[in-house]
Parts: sequence; structure tokens; C-alpha cells
Amino acid sequence: MADLKVDLTAPNGKKITLPTGLFINNEFVKSSSGTKITSINPTNEQEICSVEAASAEDIDKAVAAARAALNHESWRDISATERGALMFKLADLIEQESDILATIETWDNGKPFADSQGDVGEVISTIRYYGGYADKIHGETIPTTSQKFVYTLKQPIGVCGQIIPWNYPLSMAAWKLGPALACGNTVVLKPAEQTPLSILYFASVVVKAGFPAGVVNITNGYGKEAGHALASHLDVDKIAFTGSTATGKQIMKTASINMKNITLETGGKSPLLVFEDADIEQAAKWAHIGIMSNQGQICTATSRILVQDTIYDKFVNEFREAVKTTSKVGDPFAEGTFQGPQVTKAQYDRILSFVESGKSEGATLTAGGIPCPLNGKGFFIEPTIFTKVKNNMKIYREEVFGPFVVIVPFKTEGEAIAMANDTTYGLGAAVFSQNLELSHRVAARIEAGMVWINSSNDSDIRVPFGGVKQSGIGRELGEAGLAAYTQTKAIHVNIGQKL
Ligand code: ADP
Repeated sequence: MADLKVDLTAPNGKKITLPTGLFINNEFVKSSSGTKITSINPTNEQEICSVEAASAEDIDKAVAAARAALNHESWRDISATERGALMFKLADLIEQESDILATIETWDNGKPFADSQGDVGEVISTIRYYGGYADKIHGETIPTTSQKFVYTLKQPIGVCGQIIPWNYPLSMAAWKLGPALACGNTVVLKPAEQTPLSILYFASVVVKAGFPAGVVNITNGYGKEAGHALASHLDVDKIAFTGSTATGKQIMKTASINMKNITLETGGKSPLLVFEDADIEQAAKWAHIGIMSNQGQICTATSRILVQDTIYDKFVNEFREAVKTTSKVGDPFAEGTFQGPQVTKAQYDRILSFVESGKSEGATLTAGGIPCPLNGKGFFIEPTIFTKVKNNMKIYREEVFGPFVVIVPFKTEGEAIAMANDTTYGLGAAVFSQNLELSHRVAARIEAGMVWINSSNDSDIRVPFGGVKQSGIGRELGEAGLAAYTQTKAIHVNIGQKL
């Protein structure tokens, strides 16, 4: 086991000892198949290191560990207050290690260092938020007749499989771990194969915090093998997934094998509506944040900008200006970088193929759409804007998941709402207007799990997050996030003698 770690020096000079094994039963172990994942730095295309990748057999071991922990007195019987205290301890330790975690995140994912620091901050606050809930989860008493009553217990769902995407490797893990642990579940978490590193360091912190063995298991691996093994496992009670809609549908099908409880957070093509009375400078600023942050790799990205025709040209100019002045593309470790490389060559190629599709379908490439490598390397793409886009074009309908936006005019409020809802997705939406009545009316009519008025892409640990239509099932974060990790048992009590 001693060799299941690697000493690394990050591009920012930080020295890091990183565990490379599968994290099962509080130990780092080898994969039974010998399969590995090699992680690539998207900034210079060089290898960072290789880590163990789980086979179906390893997933079996991790699930068995999680099942044993669920039924072990060290977890099942500790008080909810103690469970919360473990989570606070975990949050404190993450805080102490936050620079290392943020460094690994930027190195492996390519996101600017300040953004990774923000993500780690969110991890800490999410774990604390749910740690605080641990001893406030309880049922109710329901009087039924003069001789009978019912009390309900909020019990853990059981062994939870959690499948994580690569765009926010640590914070998506925290969104799922926080409520799962607060409610007393045990977890097998499968990170994305594109970004396997930061969560391994996180795993070493879980041990230090003192969680009993088997409560948290982290099994890197490929989707089709390890992810599928988890989703199809007969001893897993729940699957929580964040990722693409296509994979979400596949997981839903697979998880039906034993009717697992599921929570899915999938894709989007979220609209941002700018009405003629909006503060255009504010709208352009938020529209820029809404699509260009995190290299455009955000499921809630407001990737379709719909602008009232009377102010269309003015808005496009303001937006281009916002991109020019703010979207500094470059080394994610350099101060002031807004946009780093795309996470992988596959994503980079995919975005460039959307650029070709937009051009060949007759849309106008107004800005960007070309690679902008750093010293000849890296998966960097200039922020891309398409105008003269028609509603049947691929770039209008499909999720690109990159710094890539289409800007389209509308005439009336009715048309704006119809265009906003003309999508199979329903994750987020933004409305810009200074007219209170209009903005709330439109917000109510847009088919989306979240609407931002005069803003875009706000998210907060206290607020339910999730989608409608093909953007997902269930909610994460906030109090709603707890519902996804508890089941309600009704216990009927007869205290009388009569029939
Ligand atoms: P992308 O297409 O951007 O790679 P995915 O939605 O396919 O995103 O991946 C998100 C997560 O789902 C990753 O952890 C990945 O390994 C996992 N995954 C992919 N395919 C499957 C599958 N068939 N079953 C279970 N998990 C999967």
C-alpha cells in the first residue's frame, strides 16, 4: 500500500503527496484489474499522474464496505449531534488544506485558481451547512383516532451511489456528500475519469476527520465500467448523478434494476431574456458571467441569449465589449485569468465542431470560435459568439458546454416566453427588465427549475437547485436536498383496547 501515493510539484510550486488508490474502508487500495486513469493537465497537455481505476469487482468491495458501515454501531448508533460534529471536523480540516485542494483542482481541471478557491470554499460551507442539519432531522406525530397515533421516522436511504461530473469535481461531490452524511447514509462516490485527483486528497482528509471505515468510499473509474457497476448494483439503494442528459437517461434505465431512488441533475440550454427596458450594461455583464464562467462548462450556463429586437444591436455591442474586457484567456494559475483551457481534448474538439456546425448552417460567427493555445499547447478556445442564428440550428438547440453563446432577437413578451420554452431542457433561466410586474410574470411562465431576475447563475447552499423537463429529477442543496437522502417511515401505534 505504501506505493499508492505520488509526490508531485504543481505548476504553482506547491509540493503535494497525493494518494492514488481506490478509497475503500478508509484505506487506499489497488484496483483488482490493474486498470488506471492517467490524468492530463489541460493547460500543457502533459501527464500529471496515474491513479487506480475501479472494476466491477472493486465496486462490489466498496458497496460491501458501505453496507457494513451502514449497519455498524460506529455509524448507525452514533447520535445525530456526533454525526454533525464529524462533518464540522471534516470542514475544518478541508479549510486547513484548501490551498492544496484548489491547486490540484486547477491543475487537473484547468479552471482559474481563484475559481478553484471559490469551489473549495463552497465545499467547506456545504459540509458545515449540512453538518448543522444532522441533529435537526426528525419526524412528526400524527394523532389519528382517540386511541391511535402515528409517528414518523426520517431514516437514511441506505447505501448511496454518487456519480460526479468533471466541471466542479470537488463542489459537486460536496453537494452530494453533505446531505447524504447528515442523514446517516453511507456512500460510494465515483468521480469523473477526466478529473480524478482532488477527491483523492479529499479522501485522505475524511480519514483524518475520524469517519468510521466504510462510511465514505471513493472509487475512481470509467463511466461505462465503474459507473455502470454502481448504477446496476443490487445492494445500492440510491443513485445521485450529475452529468449529461444522455448519460442520465442511461443511468435511470440501469438503476431501475432494483428500483433505486434517483436524483438526476443533467444538461441545459438555459435562456437569458433581455427586455427593452433592461439596464443593458448590467444585462451584458451578467450575460457574460452566465455563459463564459468556468470555461462555459456549467450545466446552468445561460447559453441562449434572447434580446428584444429594439435593443438587439446595442446589447450585442455591450456584450462583445464585456467579453473583450473581461474574458482574459490564459494560464489558470496566472493572476487575472478569467478563462482557462477546456477540461479535455474531447471537449475542445466538441466545441470546435459546434463552431463548424454553426458556420455551415449559415449563422454568423461574430467573435472567437478559434483555438488560442498557450505556447502552442492546451485546450484553449476564444470566447465564441454566434448571431443570425435560427431556432432549428444545432447550435441553438444542443448543449455545447463551452464558452459559446448564441444571441437571437425576439419581438414580444409572448414570443420571448415561447422561445425560452422551446427546448427539451429546463434548468435555469434569466430575465432582465426593470419592470417588476413583467419580470415576475415571465419568471413564473418559464419552464425551469431556477430563474434569475436581473442576474445569472447565482447558486447558494441554502437554495434548492435542480431542473425540470430533461434537465433532471429532484433537488439538491437547501432543505430540499435533505429530502433526497431520507425516507419517511410511518409507525402506527395503538394505545387503546377497542377494535
Ligand atoms: P461527459 O459526457 O461530459 O463526459 P457524462 O455525463 O458522461 O459526462 O459523465 C458524468 C459522470 O457519469 C462521470 O462520472 C462518468 O464517468 C459517469 N458515467 C458515464 N457513463 C456512465 C454510465 N453508462 N453509467 C454510469 N455512469 C456513467
